Amino acid sequence: MPPAVARLPRNRAGRPVPGNIAWYEADDDGSILVTRNDELGGHITCPCTPGRGTPRFGEQCSDRQRQLMVQRRCGLCTQAIEPTAQLVFIGESDARYYLGPPLHPLCAAYALQVCPVLHAEGERIEVALTQSYALAEDRITAVSADGALRRSAFPFGDLGAHHLAVLEFYLAFPDAPERLTAPTWLAQHDLKLLP
Ligand SMILES: [Zn+2]
Ligand SMILES: [Zn+2]
Repeated sequence: MPPAVARLPRNRAGRPVPGNIAWYEADDDGSILVTRNDELGGHITCPCTPGRGTPRFGEQCSDRQRQLMVQRRCGLCTQAIEPTAQLVFIGESDARYYLGPPLHPLCAAYALQVCPVLHAEGERIEVALTQSYALAEDRITAVSADGALRRSAFPFGDLGAHHLAVLEFYLAFPDAPERLTAPTWLAQHDLKLLP
């Protein structure tokens, strides 16, 4: 386990909770909070605190997801990724963009080995290796009668979108990524760690 991962808050089973995961406290009624400022326009905000309440694996905190993406910090351990260092996105085959923040290679390798969902997907999970990525905005444009949210991608920082739609997450588009299936990449990774 990478040292920065060992310092993360844990769930009841003792498993470190990734930095991008949302936490719920007992008095949380599940409502979605929308606010507005000059920087982001309308946006969803999440007031949760890591380590307080219960983590919901598979659900990202909108505030921390956006911070991690913009600040080039690791979605698992939350530490900065050096500007010239390789980083990893985890997703489905040939994904054009990623909703999960970038990861340090060691953190990605750890996640692929311990996360039951990722582990079960095996060859269907792909890693995208790159040194840089561009961002776009995932905004909610409408709520249909049955409560389903309609979403559109907008350019990063597009002022027109501020009034049209509510920002929830950033989308990361890796620059010229090298793509490998997760098992293949892990096998290579282990080889590189040998003396
Ligand atoms: Zn939150
Ligand atoms: Zn990390």
